[in-house]
Amino acid sequence: MLIVKKFGGTSVANKERIFNVAKRCIEDYQKGHQIVVVLSAMGKQTDVLLQMAEDINPKASKRELDMLLTTGEQTSVALMAMAMDSLGVPAVSLNAFQVAMHTTADYGNARLKKIDVQRIRFELGNRRIVVITGFQGISKFDDFTTLGRGGSDTTAVALAAALHADACEIYTDVDGVFTADPRIVSTARKLDEITYDEMLELASLGAGVLHNRSVEMAKKYGVQLVVRSSLNTSEGTVVKEESKMEKMLVSGVATDKNVVQFAVEGLENKPGVAFKLFQHLANHMVNVDMILQSVEHGGTQDISFTVTEDMEEVAMETLERHSQTSLKCEKVTVTKDVAKVSVVGAGMMSNPGVAAKMFEALYDAGINIRQISTSEIRVTVLIDEKFTEDAAQAVHEAFSLAK
Ligand code: ASP
Ligand code: MG
Repeated sequence: MLIVKKFGGTSVANKERIFNVAKRCIEDYQKGHQIVVVLSAMGKQTDVLLQMAEDINPKASKRELDMLLTTGEQTSVALMAMAMDSLGVPAVSLNAFQVAMHTTADYGNARLKKIDVQRIRFELGNRRIVVITGFQGISKFDDFTTLGRGGSDTTAVALAAALHADACEIYTDVDGVFTADPRIVSTARKLDEITYDEMLELASLGAGVLHNRSVEMAKKYGVQLVVRSSLNTSEGTVVKEESKMEKMLVSGVATDKNVVQFAVEGLENKPGVAFKLFQHLANHMVNVDMILQSVEHGGTQDISFTVTEDMEEVAMETLERHSQTSLKCEKVTVTKDVAKVSVVGAGMMSNPGVAAKMFEALYDAGINIRQISTSEIRVTVLIDEKFTEDAAQAVHEAFSLAK
């Protein structure tokens, strides 16, 4: 078998953990498997490097930032190969240039385009463990690029796809994907399986276990993933197309506090108003999430929507700039203390009543809903931030997700 194994920063944070990972890889190597290891930078090294850059030049170019950040992964792969070598197993570390991992030239947020597998195949053919830098790539200008924070997952999935690997294992510091964040809902349970679509909804909701694009890519190329702990040998969670088990009505509850709500009041009720509003925001790269348009009252209407916290300022500036001219609205307000709570489950598609059940649980807990949005497999409510934990617990219980 050819196995791609990816280890995150905490899994290689120090000497002891590096050796722990080395031994785990060697175990499979000694069973006769071909092993490709993808690593993140050690511990919080990426943050440390970013801080160093900030100290020197807060306006550093993205090109130079990528040049700097890629050293983090280069450090961990070299040390890992040394550790394996010291344990008597031949290993070779490779960076994005040595493999040739081609990406777009969007520094800081590049997308993988093509991976050459020749060198990797050659090294595997010589019975070496191949240890590859996650997170980085090369642009057509022969510069280093990075794939965005958490991007090593995507490197691993892309390598698994390019190499037609038999397994792709994502090792992390938790036991797998849970029905809720265990820090918020103490009865949260590890899932054995989850579908790509559910995982995508959970990842974008801030579940944080997997890089969003890695799941998109896994779905596109049919790469089955296993998310498991590097600190113990528990089974982990399989992420795949269809869940073998009966489709869970609801697989998980996600919360996200990184959100603010805007209300634009007193807009004219005529064609083109929503278009102009969201076009202005899009022009300033503001990504809008939940949208709610009120019915007409007194000849005008209101539109509310949410954005992530970091976009609050730009969104406000944009709206204020246009409020008297092209938008002609009466008032723009922003509410910061809000949070999203969502339920996700592939079984929703064929079962009515999920939304009602969720709303009932919130009602019973005395929590008011400000706004609602849905997808085929998700129901999200916006509530007051102070009720986030209570809401997650109530909903988790209502769907009997507990251990
Ligand atoms: N080291 C990079 C980061 O912290 C990439 C990764 O860990 O996946 O974002
Ligand atoms: Mg990660």
